[in-house]
Amino acid sequence: MSVVEDFGDSLDSGCCGYCGGRKERAGDSSSPLGAQNSTLDVVRRRLRGALWAHRLCPEDYQLLMDRGWRRSGCFVYLPDNEHGCCPQYAVRIPLQGFEPTRSQRRVLRRWCAFVRAQGELATQCFLSYGFEGTQSLDQRSRASSIRSSGREQEPAEATPTDARLEVLRTQLEPSLRRVPRKSQAVSRGAHFTTALAWKLAHEHKTSVTEEANQLAALLWRRGAEQLGIARIDVNHGHVNLYDGMELGREPMENTRRPGPSSHPVVVSKQPKAILRMELLRAEYRENAFCLYCKYQRRIHGDAESELRPERYSRFLVDHPFRSECASYGAFHLQMYIDDELVIVSVLDILPGCLSSKYCFYDPDLPPRLSAGIFAALCETQFARQVLHVPYYYLGFYIHSCRKMQYKISFRGSQLLCGHCFHWKSFDDVARRVLDQDEHCVGFCTESTPYADQPLNLKPRLETVLVWLLDACGCSAALAPQALATVEPRALRERVYAALRSLASMVPSELLEHMVYLPPRSAVA
Ligand SMILES: [Zn+2]
Ligand SMILES: [Zn+2]
Ligand SMILES: [Zn+2]
Repeated sequence: MSVVEDFGDSLDSGCCGYCGGRKERAGDSSSPLGAQNSTLDVVRRRLRGALWAHRLCPEDYQLLMDRGWRRSGCFVYLPDNEHGCCPQYAVRIPLQGFEPTRSQRRVLRRWCAFVRAQGELATQCFLSYGFEGTQSLDQRSRASSIRSSGREQEPAEATPTDARLEVLRTQLEPSLRRVPRKSQAVSRGAHFTTALAWKLAHEHKTSVTEEANQLAALLWRRGAEQLGIARIDVNHGHVNLYDGMELGREPMENTRRPGPSSHPVVVSKQPKAILRMELLRAEYRENAFCLYCKYQRRIHGDAESELRPERYSRFLVDHPFRSECASYGAFHLQMYIDDELVIVSVLDILPGCLSSKYCFYDPDLPPRLSAGIFAALCETQFARQVLHVPYYYLGFYIHSCRKMQYKISFRGSQLLCGHCFHWKSFDDVARRVLDQDEHCVGFCTESTPYADQPLNLKPRLETVLVWLLDACGCSAALAPQALATVEPRALRERVYAALRSLASMVPSELLEHMVYLPPRSAVA
């Protein structure tokens, strides 16, 4: 059962962290906060509702998120989009049939050229995108359409190795075959190979090496480069081809491409780094905290005074979930390259979604690897392949904030409408409304926010278990019906008012089974 303590309404958490107060709107009033004030430092924006979750069932948090609430540590809040300067909308991505965009695929290819996955989790999160060997049906048909059109029309799109082999065989050299993964070490990572030089040498009574060199140069002239081959080399009479699409189209270091006048040069290739992933319960860990500090310093310019373990824990480790909900709760997905921690994704695993809370990474990773995008793409696969949940939640989206554009760059992204609490397609609905009015509450024509709430709340309120704190902080549980008998009357009215206000912001299912602690200001 969830136990929540109400902070009351019209909460002001100080200056807006997104526009720095430049877009503040008139009519705001501030109210001082109690003991948990410091936790609000990480929120720093106008709120409509604020709760301290002493404990929260994952099922209940899922209900709250689908009403636009979000947690930071144990602090659960609802932004005030009607009065706030930078309205924020919950954003999510449906995972059924999810496909990365072209630029997201480019990021995945770069990682594929850079690392190879080790272990089940990394394989499921990363390789299940089909960048090493496996392929999905639509990729297969895309490859065959390239083949039938006679030339490659979408050079930026990856085609898996088997389909690529078909293209190269028909257009370059029928004797090409794919190098089996287990012998790639021998061929130093080549993707395709041909032993045709041995046959030719036998027929022409010449040397195998000479035939192989001629064949390599011929393949290059025939247009291997145009077909996406990054490099050709010769090894023991075998002509090896390196697929530029598999390598992520990155220029390879220490590599010379064979030109028409030069013989191919055999170059040894660096072995790929190893990518490993670990899913851990959210806890304070020294290596993650160090990475967090490095990231915050370099990417966000945080002052040293802000980079304290307590603060980090309050923001990214603390959570209101209890361990009886075994498979749900707060987790850290840690990613390592050659055993060095490089990315930490802070996640909530909930009954209906994977919710991304924060992500920090090593700022020394090359910028072209787009570590944040890569982490998000891995999380979508984790949600799909491992958790089998239908949605990936990305927190809040602010239309005027450029740093948040990546959230709506995912195919099929949806924003939560503040009028009807339905999820609306960003591309088809929300974008148009936001372009006209970035302060809108919702994206449909219903005029009243929270319109689906019944007006008469009283009978439902009496099913809520209320705990009242007396002056010395001792709590007393009230039987549901007893709230009606609380004296003095003014106290009863204040508690009712606070409950009624909360009832307009949370789903009724939640209100009916949680333990509610009224604002301390109401019962003092
Ligand atoms: Zn603002
Ligand atoms: Zn529970
Ligand atoms: Zn709506």
